[in-house]
Amino acid sequence: MSGSAITPWVVGNWKMNPMRADAKQLVQELKQLLQDHVIDESQCHIGVAPISLALSNVQAQLSAGNRTVYTVAQDLSRIAGTGAYTGEISAELLKDSGIDFVLVGHSERREIFGDSPAIVNEKVKNAIDAGLTVIYCVGESLEQRENGQAEQTVLQQICDIASVVQADQWERVVVAYEPIWAIGTGKTASPADAQAMHAKIREGLSQITPMGQSMAILYGGSVKPENAVELAACPDINGALVGGASLNAESFYKIAHAFANTK
Ligand code: PEP
Repeated sequence: MSGSAITPWVVGNWKMNPMRADAKQLVQELKQLLQDHVIDESQCHIGVAPISLALSNVQAQLSAGNRTVYTVAQDLSRIAGTGAYTGEISAELLKDSGIDFVLVGHSERREIFGDSPAIVNEKVKNAIDAGLTVIYCVGESLEQRENGQAEQTVLQQICDIASVVQADQWERVVVAYEPIWAIGTGKTASPADAQAMHAKIREGLSQITPMGQSMAILYGGSVKPENAVELAACPDINGALVGGASLNAESFYKIAHAFANTK
């Protein structure tokens, strides 16, 4: 399977947004758009990642729609199972609530909350072992890019999880390449630069697992309707992880539409 034959994913990362009433309206608007202008499930997987507190409500609201929209957790505990761990939500508890997808290693978790590679690995292992699909985020800082270390940084992040993902578990890993300097800044990697990094990631994955050729590699970093078609046209960009633009139903829908129809 070549990169362009992979069904794309478009996932909205709502981060610490929005208020409950706005979340309800956002889901309602998205469902309406998907009902009025259908995007076939075989053309694009769609997901949204609300705050933990809203996972069940959003999932219930989405389940009444005319197509599957996955509900994705933004993070999980590095501790597995259940126990005396105040404030934590384990992979098993997510799974028990019917959540099958989780973001791991987002740069905001790594940079602001101290998720080291060791912690990220624990989270990936717990999630995969509990049966979740992981959207594993990688990406270099501006300094690393300017120092010519972008590729090395990202490939190292890919190699990091190879010790915890078993051979038959790679089908439950989706990679999201998010250059940190492009997140929430309005700056996007040029389609050529993004494609080049995605091709390197695919090469790296393929050295680790034969599934590397069929794994989805999403791009994230100021994706919006205006740049989605160009990004979607790149053979190794199999979708988008969308922050800011996912808080507007129409923008998010347009990005999903661009990937569904360009691929
Ligand atoms: C993100 O945080 O995953 C992201 C890509 O954000 P934005 O689209 O706002 O840059």
